[in-house]
Amino acid sequence: MKDFRADLHCHTTCSDGSETPEKVLQLASKIGLKGLAITDHDSVEAYPIALPIANQLGLKLLPGTEFSSVHKGVSVHILAYSFSPENPLIHEFCLRHKLRRLNRNREILERLKEHGMPVSEEEVEAMLPPDLSEAQRTIGRPHIAQVMVKKGYVETITDAFKKHIGEGKPCYAAGNPFSSEETIDLIHRAKGLAIIAHPHLMDDANTLKDLLAMPFDGIECYYGTFAMTQQERWLKIAAKKNWIITGGSDFHGSIKPNIPLGSSFVNEELFNVLYNHFSNQSKS
Ligand code: AMP
Ligand code: ZN
Ligand code: FE
Ligand code: FE
Repeated sequence: MKDFRADLHCHTTCSDGSETPEKVLQLASKIGLKGLAITDHDSVEAYPIALPIANQLGLKLLPGTEFSSVHKGVSVHILAYSFSPENPLIHEFCLRHKLRRLNRNREILERLKEHGMPVSEEEVEAMLPPDLSEAQRTIGRPHIAQVMVKKGYVETITDAFKKHIGEGKPCYAAGNPFSSEETIDLIHRAKGLAIIAHPHLMDDANTLKDLLAMPFDGIECYYGTFAMTQQERWLKIAAKKNWIITGGSDFHGSIKPNIPLGSSFVNEELFNVLYNHFSNQSKS
């Protein structure tokens, strides 16, 4: 189908997106997307809520998540797709991430306090919608940044990252992260596909070189509000390595207001590479 578009990268209230899974699906349907993968950070909790709604709307929903990892001290986001959403290895890994986040966030709050910007855990939790179940709660730095804006410590969420809680800034804490290698291995053991997310954000050439030598299955070539010329480099790499090409907006709703859902997408052929892998999982 010529007008088939699928956005393979977006966030909901199950991580740091401002919109519920239901709202994201309604929006996807409204703008004419035919396929979608919800890729919450270190969580697959949106999937059971989203699946029946996607079916009603006639949207193909592909299981996905965006795992946080670290390679030689540099943050690397890894998209995982096409696993069974009930896969116990994925669920256990998400739980381990939850604990990692809890400790990491506490370290960040400790540093903010030391720098004269006290933020309590309760204040951060109040940034999440009240009707989320415990399992659906994934607390990230954007929630901490929202409190910092609310308390007048900074003007914008971006400022909070740039000055205080971004990587390498005084109130940042890395916590106890998982390596990129162990993340890829876990995804493969869960029979999913491991994709390098937004490679252009890796401004360190050595990290990219190392990642390109790892056993990824694909690379995100279409991203956000990217100019066409910026895709060439990643498409060439995908062709050379015979990797899967993926793409998506990285929609976060009002947390990142300049990135609309569907602003990047893949066509039916590319979507089906991932969707067929998922369908084959369900059969085996
Ligand atoms: P966390 O997963 O808690 O470490 O938070 C990382 C998330 O914060 C990313 O996935 C982005 O959504 C968001 N983020 C990272 N850097 C920035 C920035 N400079 N401005 C706004 N949001 C950011
Ligand atoms: Zn995010
Ligand atoms: Fe990311
Ligand atoms: Fe993302």
